[in-house]
Amino acid sequence: MIEKILIANRGEIALRVLRACKELGIKTVAVHSTADADLKHVLLADESVCIGPAPSSESYLNVPAIISAAEVTDAEAIHPGYGFLSENADFAERVEESGFKFIGPKAETIRIMGDKVSAIRAMKAAGVPTVPGSGGPLGDDDDENHRIAKEIGYPIIIKASGGGGGRGMRVVHTEANLLKSIQLTKSEAGSFFGNPEVYMEKFLENPRHVEIQVLADGQGNAVHLGERDCSMQRRHQKVVEEAPAPGVTAEQRAKIGAACVNACNEINYRGAGTFEFLYEDGEFYFIEMNTRLQVEHCVTEMVTGIDLVKAQIEIAMGIPLSLKQEDIVIKGHAIECRINAENPAKNFMPSPGLLERLHLPGGLGVRWDSHIYTGYTIPPHYDSMIGKLICFGNDRTTAIRRMDVALQEMVIKGIDTNIHLQREIMNDHGFCEGGMNIHYLEHRLEHLI
Ligand code: ADP
Repeated sequence: MIEKILIANRGEIALRVLRACKELGIKTVAVHSTADADLKHVLLADESVCIGPAPSSESYLNVPAIISAAEVTDAEAIHPGYGFLSENADFAERVEESGFKFIGPKAETIRIMGDKVSAIRAMKAAGVPTVPGSGGPLGDDDDENHRIAKEIGYPIIIKASGGGGGRGMRVVHTEANLLKSIQLTKSEAGSFFGNPEVYMEKFLENPRHVEIQVLADGQGNAVHLGERDCSMQRRHQKVVEEAPAPGVTAEQRAKIGAACVNACNEINYRGAGTFEFLYEDGEFYFIEMNTRLQVEHCVTEMVTGIDLVKAQIEIAMGIPLSLKQEDIVIKGHAIECRINAENPAKNFMPSPGLLERLHLPGGLGVRWDSHIYTGYTIPPHYDSMIGKLICFGNDRTTAIRRMDVALQEMVIKGIDTNIHLQREIMNDHGFCEGGMNIHYLEHRLEHLI
């Protein structure tokens, strides 16, 4: 059993983890930077420790400070949330070496999945469909690289093995640009990620982003919880997410879900995880695995009724997964709108500051996951997401209408937000139709702002 958990994160996800701990009767330790002493979860936690100054590099990414905080408070486990150190294999290793449980997969799994080439190899071996590509790192043989590109067929995309956050990628449309693009991507990858290795994939022109949520206990039991559609993106950042994905059939879900479950067993996966796919013409193509909880996990919780954070904690306790695949039933439809402190009309400029007044929506099927409160000041140092509004309905149209009504009710005074843009999206004909691709929102933005 785990009696005390240190939450190595901030904002809404730290509060989300704290709520799950409280329900399970587990004590909590909040860690925070000097800019974050008044965060809601810090005020609600059993104990709190300041781990450094405002910049994340000196606080939320400060491994020795976090480990010391766990030591002085006698915490038994560390939940990394998402972002920050959640996919840092060295951190997971340090946590376990220091005698704490890391609420996530083993460090070696994070390491394999963190390298895109090794992740793709592992997925191929497990029978998960991948994007046609080089399958391995590109060498220095120009003729060979030309041959690989020709075989895949243009356009292709050169990607850094160690890439992340939408960086370290270059699309190549013609043979003439191939060698120069490989060189450029290699040198960028070397300086951004400390690893110049690159590989090549077919560039899919109009894909959707559809991802599969899994839970596995590392003891041979794994299930999938269906898919989420996260195609509404701006600059590779998700803006709206939903479950299930419009148009994906029960047969397609069962097939790709089974492949992901098989992959979990092959890599002996432990914890909650997400297999991200590009989805085009009814086919799934694996792009990467996230070895952690995701921002959009809530839509899956709403349509399955399963608390993913509690499941993560139970898995970390070594409790075998009691869920069987047939227990997981997808019911209704859930949509999540990310609410950001930013001004869409001013090129999405971040808008930190004092929250003078707050009126939050409610009613049947409305969920608000956020740490903000009246009188709270949003610091300028971190991500601009200040909350997630999640609406559930028996069908997609009901969920969209409910979201529109909830957004209308929501009042946030003192800062700029993207609430108006989210309302425009809920009323956009393409979004309402469903199944738009990953470029759709960017193309529509000028009409929506
Ligand atoms: P990162 O780890 O940097 O987020 P991903 O591999 O997840 O990198 O890719 C990020 C985004 O780049 C995808 O969501 C998609 O929009 C685009 N992308 C990546 N690979 C391809 C591809 N083969 N074809 C088309 N778009 C791609």
